[in-house]
Amino acid sequence: MRLVIMGPPGAGKGTQAVVVAQSLGVPHISTGDIFRANVSQGTPLGEEAQRYMDAGEYVPDSITNAMVRDRLSRDDCDPGFLLDGYPRTLEQVNELDAMLRSDGRAIDKVIELTVDTEAVVQRLLNRAQEQGRSDDTAEVIRRRLEVYFEQTAPLTSVYRERGLILEVDGMGDVPVVTERILSALSG
Ligand code: ADP
Repeated sequence: MRLVIMGPPGAGKGTQAVVVAQSLGVPHISTGDIFRANVSQGTPLGEEAQRYMDAGEYVPDSITNAMVRDRLSRDDCDPGFLLDGYPRTLEQVNELDAMLRSDGRAIDKVIELTVDTEAVVQRLLNRAQEQGRSDDTAEVIRRRLEVYFEQTAPLTSVYRERGLILEVDGMGDVPVVTERILSALSG
């Protein structure tokens, strides 16, 4: 299973992705987590990425694509993977297609988590208090949502045309949403 999970910031992608990947026995690949790990380790990639992340902007495609290419080439991705937070731009969609195609692979399904925007802002503000993520301030949250609706939401129509989209209601308790995802995947 080669999967992508999409949805606005605060939709619970990360939370669901961890559980779903574990249950399917494939690696969970979160570009946000990889960037944050690089930031906390102070790597050159982290230093570059942090400026964008703290402003709620996307890290440039050239950087993100190279990072994902490297990650997907590892052996643990042979049985499949669950991509979380990638692709986020049309260029990333095209690049991902090219990376997979060169090994005769392709994306099998795209899970789209749908949520109520108001609820999402509230979740992110709560997370800001609990985890203190530097991009979870009210102003940066607004910007991240704007960027998502401008640049990433339209990608779902690309995948919809290919018949890959599984739309899943992301509102409700975590285990309830997980169950919806797993049953959509097996259906
Ligand atoms: P969320 O979806 O909740 O905003 P993520 O952890 O997925 O959080 O991403 C955090 C930040 O990392 C993004 O706002 C962006 O700056 C950067 N980022 C993550 N994935 C990508 C990507 N595919 N392309 C560009 N930037 C990315």
